[in-house]
Formats: sequence, C-alpha cells, structure tokens
Amino acid sequence: MILSTHAVVGAALASLMPSHPVAAFAVGFASHFVIDSIPHWDYPLRSISLGPGARNNVRMTAARVRDLAVIGFDGLAGLVLAVAIFGTEANLVAVVAGAVGGILPDPLKFVYTLYPCEPLATLERFHNWIHSKRKLDWPLGVSSQIAFASAVIGAAVAARLAN
Ligand SMILES: [Zn+2]
Repeated sequence: MILSTHAVVGAALASLMPSHPVAAFAVGFASHFVIDSIPHWDYPLRSISLGPGARNNVRMTAARVRDLAVIGFDGLAGLVLAVAIFGTEANLVAVVAGAVGGILPDPLKFVYTLYPCEPLATLERFHNWIHSKRKLDWPLGVSSQIAFASAVIGAAVAARLAN
C-alpha cells in the first residue's frame, strides 16, 4: 500500500496505546505487513525498483528525483494526516511512532537493494512473501485504499470513544 495508508493505519493503532510509543512503533511496523497482504494499488516508480532481486544505486537522475519527490510527499502527507486525525497532546509521541513504524518497512526495502545482508534479507523475503500478488487497477485500487483507510480511522475513533 502507499505510505500515507501505512502511516494512517499505524497511527490509528497507536492511538489505542497512547502512552506506549515503543509498543505503538512495533504494532505500526507489524501492521505494514498485514495490510500489504490485501490486494491494492501502488504508484509506479521510474527509477527505483523494489521487487525481488532488485538492485539500486544512489546516483541522482531526473527520474530518481521525481520518485523521491513522490515518495517524500506521500510519506509526509501520511504523517501530517496521522497527526491531524489522531494526535493529541497526550499521545503525540505514540502516534508519530506508530505512523513511522507503519511506513518503515518500505524504506527498508530500498536499503536492502543497496545493502543486501541480514537481517534485511530475511525481512525482504517476508515482505515479498506476504505482499499481495494481486495488483488492482488504479481506479479500484485507489478508491478501495481510501475506503480501507477511512474504515480503519472510523474503527479507531469508535474504539477510543468506547473507552
Ligand atoms: Zn510494503
């Protein structure tokens, strides 16, 4: 899934454990793999490949700058949304930890393509194994991802109200 979805889902779970940032980070990290297993749509990257066996370098090209801008916007939008929706003075650290934990496995995929060693290799195998092999077309893939994120937000808000 895209980084914003991962950030919002990680933050939603984190909001249920407002005073445990380490647990929130771990739960956010774990949630990445759970929701990657749902068929979805990811935006294409032009210069960065993350599939099995992918190798990248750190050379800067126009395509690489464009990819980094898209990824940066996606991740930042996710963090801003996560804090805007779930952040309070009391839970801010946990919510940010959950959102960052939710995003982190994808940058780690990139790190792995540069440094293919353990423990990243095992994480990479697990990530590829659990990631849905069914790729949705973008109109359905985008709307289903928005619907999914909204459902998670609704569930987290309802769970908080119930407490
Ligand atoms: Zn992923």
